Amino acid sequence: MSGATKPIPVVDGDSAPFWNGCREGKLLIQRCLTCGNHLFYPRVVCPHCMSDRIEWTESSGRGKVYSFTVARVPAGEAFAEDVPYVVALVELEEGVRMMTNLTGVSPDDVRCDMPVEVVFEERDGFAFPKFTPRG
Ligand code: ZN
Repeated sequence: MSGATKPIPVVDGDSAPFWNGCREGKLLIQRCLTCGNHLFYPRVVCPHCMSDRIEWTESSGRGKVYSFTVARVPAGEAFAEDVPYVVALVELEEGVRMMTNLTGVSPDDVRCDMPVEVVFEERDGFAFPKFTPRG
């Protein structure tokens, strides 16, 4: 048991819809109404075409492991009880990539291109999107 507490997100006007969606069990990402590309992380201007015509849309929550690493040394005392844990870059079906953790899978069994789907873990008033193997 450690006395350290895990960090929580700093929510601002750009990211509030994302975190509110997570609390409702929805993985919200942005889509550019000018060029059609999906965007993540939240922003006010499309990095593909510089348009500010951006809307929020619900992701399927499905994707695949693009890359990952296994943390065997915790990133601070608050994470000491979690090691080993998987830090992954998941590529969603919509094409954007999201830094996350994998859950429900042994770190030794994680592979690139593994199909995964979102799950939400509640902590400190937030619902954190994590991913677990699909199928
Ligand atoms: Zn665009």
